[in-house]
Amino acid sequence: MTGLLTVVGLGPGGPAHRTRAAEDAVRDAQVVLGYHAYLAACADLTGPHQSVVPSGIGAEQQRAGDAVRAAAGGARVALVSSGDAGIYGMASLALTTATALPPTRRPAVRVVPGITAAIAAGALLGAPLARDFACLTLSDLLAPWEAVETRLRAVAAADLVLALYNPRSQGRSWQLHRARDVLAEYRPGDTPVGLVTDAGRDGERVELVTLATLDPARAGMHTVVIVGAADTSRLGTWLVTARSLGARS
Ligand code: SAH
Repeated sequence: MTGLLTVVGLGPGGPAHRTRAAEDAVRDAQVVLGYHAYLAACADLTGPHQSVVPSGIGAEQQRAGDAVRAAAGGARVALVSSGDAGIYGMASLALTTATALPPTRRPAVRVVPGITAAIAAGALLGAPLARDFACLTLSDLLAPWEAVETRLRAVAAADLVLALYNPRSQGRSWQLHRARDVLAEYRPGDTPVGLVTDAGRDGERVELVTLATLDPARAGMHTVVIVGAADTSRLGTWLVTARSLGARS
């Protein structure tokens, strides 16, 4: 008998930004797996009747395999990610792993959406994502930097508002410097930029700068960087992208 694997996006931080479906999936699970910080983010939903299985930040393939195996064995399993599980999260790995099993052993898989960091940051900044925008990760752990930079240039040239995930970590200190320099080839120095750290969590921090004054050292592992497009303005303490394209030209 196969069980059910639910891949759950917990949202950016605390319970206020979690969906009811995400909460139900975690509460109903017999086994809850995830990176330990994400398990901590839903500790109010888990209890001693459940098996809660923490893993390290890098052990994604193993975590997906464990989750799929537990569900294939008949359990109701929740695999938790922060934000949305489909965006730089565990959903694609879980689905790839599950569909590699023969159909008779394959568990049912559901994906429950969550508020991704860009959306949480956009709300804190005002309305920078009012029109077209792109999300890009600056992590070059799963892609060569050349591929990241090619996409960055395409987004910059297309004048899309940009949400940069994974801008910096202890082991990746130069990527945001490089991204800033690349963007500056395409966008003016006074382009508004918002740095949002720990959106929806304790220690939430919002900083408004420009492309010219962006200090990469102000970003960390829990920061998402929103870079404006030509139609994005700073209005007092808000970042606002015009609803009509070309409104300022
Ligand atoms: N699945 C997650 C993203 C995981 S990648 C989501 O949908 O949000 C990890 C990156 O997401 C971090 O480096 C940071 O850029 C961003 N991030 C995640 N949570 C955040 C938060 N609460 N505040 C700001 N940025 C966050």
